[in-house]
Amino acid sequence: MATASHLRDEGRGRTVTYSRKVFVPITTLCRDTCTYCTFVKPPGNGGEYLTPEDVLAIVTAGDELHCTEALLTLGDRPEDKWPQARAFLDKQGASSTIEYVAMMSELIRAETGLYPHANPGVMSKSDIARLRPTNVSMGMMLENISDRLTEPGMPHHNCPDKVPAVRVETIREAGRQAVPFTTGILVGIGETPREVVDSLFALRDLATEFGHIQEFIIQNFRAKADTRMRFSPEPTIPYFIRVVALARWILGAEANLQVPPNLTEDFSVYLAAGINDWGGVSPLTIDWVNPEAPWPALERLEAVTADGGFTLRPRLPVYPEYLTNRWVDGQLLADAVSSATTDGYAAIPCTEIQGTDAHVQGVR
Ligand code: SF4
Repeated sequence: MATASHLRDEGRGRTVTYSRKVFVPITTLCRDTCTYCTFVKPPGNGGEYLTPEDVLAIVTAGDELHCTEALLTLGDRPEDKWPQARAFLDKQGASSTIEYVAMMSELIRAETGLYPHANPGVMSKSDIARLRPTNVSMGMMLENISDRLTEPGMPHHNCPDKVPAVRVETIREAGRQAVPFTTGILVGIGETPREVVDSLFALRDLATEFGHIQEFIIQNFRAKADTRMRFSPEPTIPYFIRVVALARWILGAEANLQVPPNLTEDFSVYLAAGINDWGGVSPLTIDWVNPEAPWPALERLEAVTADGGFTLRPRLPVYPEYLTNRWVDGQLLADAVSSATTDGYAAIPCTEIQGTDAHVQGVR
């Protein structure tokens, strides 16, 4: 941990960031069936798309609270599995779910000051090209590099979008198209420590090849009551801390390293393990992927960060070092720069404005 902290200080200084976001669950339908996932639901039982009106209600409320990120999260290619998905897309005039994400991204840019950050799962070359003009960055977790996790009885069995080679190809394609990209690993889903290490080295290689991985998420598995992995043991905090410190060793001093602060009661420990980012935190919407885990209030986040000896700063969904025309194009870059401080962070108050229960209920 001491070595990891030293590396972080050397590469990133004593600033710790977060992205003030709203979570926009574009669709809770998916063609995959990961056994730890509570986000996805079948049609008629919570599986649906947000309409453009729903999306606009969420992002407009977020705009009023100085949010700068619209996190567009969704299941993978639901139209390949569910006729209800195809019917919705037809009604919206969208040829695919990705096309609908692009349409919603355009709507968000036209109507609000928020910046879309799409997490639509596996993307093709044309998918990435379609989203790039409106998304300042994109993301997709690697989860883990091991094919073993796709075998029968393992969490990614029968999940075509969780085949490691397919995910690596999406990350590579984002690199070829110079998309600032967020990725990471999910720890505790049945992988071995060696497979954790292999995954971190795989990510390091991808980052070295293209330079586009703006942020690495190290996320601890939390068991959800309504999933097949509800009785699976979660990684212990001491083990997970070691993984985080190891990630800093492997990914290097300059890497932006994130642990979500809502999945550990005393999340301050990760500051001592070398992180420099808390990821997207919302003053308004729930974490739809971990709905049982509320975000810490921004005041608490700031206090915990300060107690560790760091300064908390809000950032855009694109990191300061990626705010250049190599990574973001044309008008989108001009807009993002106008939303940033001279050193590239989000030009918003750090923590003052919180949502209210009324707000949260108003946006589902
Ligand atoms: S691909 Fe993502 S959204 Fe779909 S089941 Fe797996 S974790 Fe859930």
